[in-house]
Amino acid sequence: MKAMLILIGTELLNGGMIDTNSLYMAEELNKYGIEIYSKMTVKDDIEDIIKAIEFGRKNCDLIITSGGLGPTIDDITKDAVAKYLNKKIVVDEEELLELKEKFRERNLKFISNNIKEVEKPEGAVTFKNGAGMAPAVYIDGIVCFPGVPIELYDMFPKFLKWYSEEKKLKSDEIFIKDLITYGIAESHLDSLISDIFTEKGIEYEFLVKDFGIIVRLQSKLSNKNIVEKIVEKIYNRVGDNIFGEDSDRLETLIIKRLKEEKKTLSVAESCTGGLLADSFVNVSGASEVFMEGIVTYSNDAKIKRLGVKKETLENYGAVSEETAREMVLGLTTDTGISVTGIAGPLGGTEEKPVGLVYMGIRNGKEIQIEKKIFKGSRRKIRERAVLHSLFCLNKMLKRK
Ligand code: ATP
Ligand code: MG
Repeated sequence: MKAMLILIGTELLNGGMIDTNSLYMAEELNKYGIEIYSKMTVKDDIEDIIKAIEFGRKNCDLIITSGGLGPTIDDITKDAVAKYLNKKIVVDEEELLELKEKFRERNLKFISNNIKEVEKPEGAVTFKNGAGMAPAVYIDGIVCFPGVPIELYDMFPKFLKWYSEEKKLKSDEIFIKDLITYGIAESHLDSLISDIFTEKGIEYEFLVKDFGIIVRLQSKLSNKNIVEKIVEKIYNRVGDNIFGEDSDRLETLIIKRLKEEKKTLSVAESCTGGLLADSFVNVSGASEVFMEGIVTYSNDAKIKRLGVKKETLENYGAVSEETAREMVLGLTTDTGISVTGIAGPLGGTEEKPVGLVYMGIRNGKEIQIEKKIFKGSRRKIRERAVLHSLFCLNKMLKRK
């Protein structure tokens, strides 16, 4: 089963907006074993959309469009589909009433242009939009979704469930195993394990994400046992650097472990300025273990809030092993992380270059100080410091 994605919107081609919808759709389609044969981005132009549909028709079983279902003059996707299929555009009275009701509920004024949102090619099946106005529309192997991501997320799973039942697809056709690593560069990782990847019928991929590098193994579900054997071999080689699988993330694993051990956590941040706290707060249920995040940016704050000694700052500087140690000792929870560094682009010296970061990692009495020189922009350096300190704390907790 092959699908083509057509991303519709002039803003996607002129640098106004980045296409994230296709990434989301790819992940969802994967679950149903539907392969994306191709994706094409086109302007809000009826002839361009039709040309894209013609290409999809020659090569794919299913065409999926996103964008252009709204009420404005540039929203012409359904007109293009109707023209291509030689269908009339119709409006279902019940759907029109539902749309008007939505406008009433939200205290919005309904104008005649809004009728467009429930127009569809005659004979189309629709999917209710739980997050916005225009329903998704399916007809004859072509399905159209709005461009607004939350509306797509609302209807895409509904559509796939219906479509897979309609076409009798098995939702478990594909088996994916992701091993998430940290601390080995992609090329090095490749040289360490790629000789294991000899089995036919299994696809191997390295995906560089901001939370780590994924080693992805993908195959038919019937090969699950073979995949699991390969996974074991990978663990034997680089297990120390694999912190989780599939949807695991470092901050989630840390919170989960601390919950189980009934321990508390707090962080003291300088150059990361709250990013580390943010990653923990992002985890639902973090409040059981995450007590506080303190941003001590100035020397004065480090002294007042964390009890770092004035002499330590004078003798070794704010970006030093000693300061990182006193910062993490200033936290009163069972476990803690401190971060102090030079995020740049200014402020570096030969002795202390931009990217130099010290991180204090503590579990009870055990303390480990990490020194790293991260590369990249100010933002990247800060993000890398967060990821590194998360990895180190997770590892320390695992050892216990
Ligand atoms: P509306 O009713 O809001 O007009 P629509 O279905 O007509 O919705 P568009 O007008 O094409 O959709 O896009 C609406 C918004 O959705 C755009 O401003 C853009 O922010 C976002 N969007 C469109 N396509 C994509 C995409 N491929 N990836 C991410 N966001 C997108
Ligand atoms: Mg629009």
